[in-house]
Amino acid sequence: MGKLLIVGSVAFDAIETPFGKTGKILGGAGVFIGLAATQFRVDSAIVSVVGDDFPQSYLDLLTDREIDISGIEIVKGGKTFYWKGKYHNDLNSRDTLVTELNTLADFDPIVPENYKDADVVMLGNLHPNIQMGVINQMEERPRLIILDTMNFWMNNTWDELVQVIKHIDVITINDEEARQMTGEYSLVKAADKIQDMGPKYVVIKKGEHGALLFHKEHVFFAPALPLKEVFDPTGAGDTFAGGFAGYLAETKNISFESMKNAIIHGSNLASFCVEKFGTERMLNLQRHEVGKRLLQFKELTQFNIELT
Ligand code: AMP
Repeated sequence: MGKLLIVGSVAFDAIETPFGKTGKILGGAGVFIGLAATQFRVDSAIVSVVGDDFPQSYLDLLTDREIDISGIEIVKGGKTFYWKGKYHNDLNSRDTLVTELNTLADFDPIVPENYKDADVVMLGNLHPNIQMGVINQMEERPRLIILDTMNFWMNNTWDELVQVIKHIDVITINDEEARQMTGEYSLVKAADKIQDMGPKYVVIKKGEHGALLFHKEHVFFAPALPLKEVFDPTGAGDTFAGGFAGYLAETKNISFESMKNAIIHGSNLASFCVEKFGTERMLNLQRHEVGKRLLQFKELTQFNIELT
């Protein structure tokens, strides 16, 4: 079985959408990535940190799904990372109302011994030095290192980010961030420039408009499934990343062709994530639902044109 090592926040989230709001609920990029990866035949572990205010029942939700949490440090007397966001009416944009790093502020990740030989490493959106700290602990070069980042790190830790992306294979970012990173409006030019910085594969996420995969002169596009209702987009990007990484860890095939399927799996899982608040939908997702929707993806994109 493939081994997937995940680093990412394990958090309390509070979410406000036009349809309602939550108190503090389970969230964090590491959690969304881990839950998505449970849809594949992989052993996975999350490296993260929480305070002792984090309920055991939340940790149990992860262990019940056979996610290894031995790399989640619990800091005595510490407070768990807290994020609060409010979505605008179109659900395409949101304001971050609160980011309390708490225990994440001085987090020094420790990779569990039995994951130092992981096939795939998924570096969730965190300080680039934490991401580098994980890479440095790997016994041998993983088959694939995937990194997710955001404008916050581009603005505040640019030099560190440039260093870490020299060591990775795939970067996942959204369209605005790709433009910010390169100063290019064209996503094709932006992807070229990012490849020059290190990652051989660039995945550009475009929210409800799908995702693009770039590698040298090859481009692939996966749509997002048009949904009747989107309830809460929180974690969609991380769920996408977890599906992408989970599929590649299961198949251990990291060709461009295989990455195309990985993008479809990522988009498919993200389409479930947005149907309920926070992790609720992903915690109750069944394999047969996933398969059924994959078929919808296929139908959405298949056509027969006779080329003369
Ligand atoms: P997404 O909607 O895919 O961008 O991910 C949202 C998740 O990322 C939430 O569950 C948050 O807890 C987490 N998150 C938000 N900001 C940060 C940050 N600066 N560092 C780490 N995790 C974050």
